[in-house]
Amino acid sequence: MSNKQSNTENSFINAHTHIFHAKDTPAHLAKKIVVWPFYYFINTHWFVSLAQKLRANKSKEYSYRSRNKAWQKYLTSRYSLYGFIKRCVLFIANIVFFFYLVYILQPMMAFWPLEGWLKQFYESEAIDQFLFLDRRFEYLVILLPLFLLFVNLRRSLFKLLVTYIKTKFGKENIEFYIRYKNLLSFARYEKSANIFSKLKSQYPPGSKFVTLPMDMEFMKAGAIKRSYRDQMKELLTLKNNNKEIIYPFLFAHPKRLKEEINGYPYFAGALDQDGNYQLQECDVKYYFEKGCAGVKIYPAMGYYPFDEALLPLWLYCSQNGIPITTHCSVGPIFYRGNLKDLRQPIDQHPVFNQIIEKDENDNEIIKDLRLPLHKNSVFQRNFTHPLNYLCLLDENFLKDVLDYYNNVDLDDLFGYDRKDKAKKLDRNLSNLKINLAHYGGAENWEEFLSKDRYNEANYIINRPTEGLRLHKRLNNDKPTILYNAWHFIDWFSIISSMILNYENVYTDISYTTHDLKYLNLLSEILDNEKISKRVLYGTDFYVVSNHKTEKQYWIDMQNSLGYKKWNKIANINPTEFLTSNSKGSI
Ligand SMILES: [Zn+2]
Repeated sequence: MSNKQSNTENSFINAHTHIFHAKDTPAHLAKKIVVWPFYYFINTHWFVSLAQKLRANKSKEYSYRSRNKAWQKYLTSRYSLYGFIKRCVLFIANIVFFFYLVYILQPMMAFWPLEGWLKQFYESEAIDQFLFLDRRFEYLVILLPLFLLFVNLRRSLFKLLVTYIKTKFGKENIEFYIRYKNLLSFARYEKSANIFSKLKSQYPPGSKFVTLPMDMEFMKAGAIKRSYRDQMKELLTLKNNNKEIIYPFLFAHPKRLKEEINGYPYFAGALDQDGNYQLQECDVKYYFEKGCAGVKIYPAMGYYPFDEALLPLWLYCSQNGIPITTHCSVGPIFYRGNLKDLRQPIDQHPVFNQIIEKDENDNEIIKDLRLPLHKNSVFQRNFTHPLNYLCLLDENFLKDVLDYYNNVDLDDLFGYDRKDKAKKLDRNLSNLKINLAHYGGAENWEEFLSKDRYNEANYIINRPTEGLRLHKRLNNDKPTILYNAWHFIDWFSIISSMILNYENVYTDISYTTHDLKYLNLLSEILDNEKISKRVLYGTDFYVVSNHKTEKQYWIDMQNSLGYKKWNKIANINPTEFLTSNSKGSI
């Protein structure tokens, strides 16, 4: 924030924010986290309207009338007879409370000099008449209401309770609780514009923001109050009012992509004579024309990033340099329905293989990569796994994807000749500009830092230009490497290696780096020349706001990284990421 830099150098780009509101979220987000039937009682929409009512009451406190009332109350308590009586009552309550508390604890105080004193005191005739119950612990009935009279005691009891709940219910539920609380504190605003103004006002003038919508209709967590199209409508109005500030993305869910309303498709297009994919009249075309700068996907909602329905859109994005941001960490938003409804067989990877065993002649028997069926919160890892993107970026895997779908139209799209599998594709996705958001998440950063005996977790350090060498090793068709990488290598190493091994892979550090302890690792990895060109500043506003405010996020980061690194991740890299042939380009 020095004066030497010009105003534009002081401003920066946050590549990962959200400004959708509660109406865009499903009613039963607690499903598969809280047991049936209790999740029905945690209805997002009820809680939001409750939060709105509380807020309305709170805002009444700012009126002149309530200010005067509060002052009057203060005066009354300070100088009047009422105030005096109140203090006397509290004083007596205090004495009674400690009288019974010490009595209950008396057996524990059986040591000199207390033992003798207390015995004498409680057995004296004047005192004995106050001890009318049979057993000591029965006086708890009197202590409890008295206890609640004291504010400080009440607060410490509440704190104890919260700590108990935290240890009892585990990390997953706490994360859910934190995000839910944020949802209530920000999502209750009636308009995205209000949420956006809370975001913008925490940044220097001229800062820019990528705003990511969420299409949660197909995640089987209950009904949504406002349609995804209405969410986009509001987002694009906001874009129109803040042209050089907001860079909205559109959302791509395979089910939405296949949707048609009154004959009008969400997504449609075809190859022209020159082999360029052209959009036809559809929502996606309209969104790009109205200023959408990229595409957001969220595979944890139950789909692979190489889903059949997504491939044509990816070809369009790849040919036009349009950026894609995908959620790439394990978190509390995931598919809540029955996993077996998604695809058959759900417990095997559609494209990747593994060696099952060797036969008598020492030949490897290769089958689909096994993905044991766990509960949804765990299984989401398979959809989210960064290696899935190799099925797009790597031509050989893309051919396997096309083999799997066995669809002539898709073959034509990429110019795939089934009779000559060795022949190069006419069009591939190796240039796809893709941001693996959250850099794998804190869990994976922790895993990377803590593994000291596992060679592959150190490749990023001792092979700074190649990392895991995914491009070379996997093309030799070695399912063993794939199996190990899928199961045993941390996502920090995988994502870093993908950046080194492929052309346009980016990552953003949103959410993950709210914790100060990760800023050292971030600074270290930014010393790697190629990686430093592919990391984007992002925060995950307002999902992260319970941990850290926006201003604290960028102030901490800017000052610990130093100007050069900060300028790369918050200015140069996001500008490159957001530059495309689309109208919404930066
Ligand atoms: Zn996010």
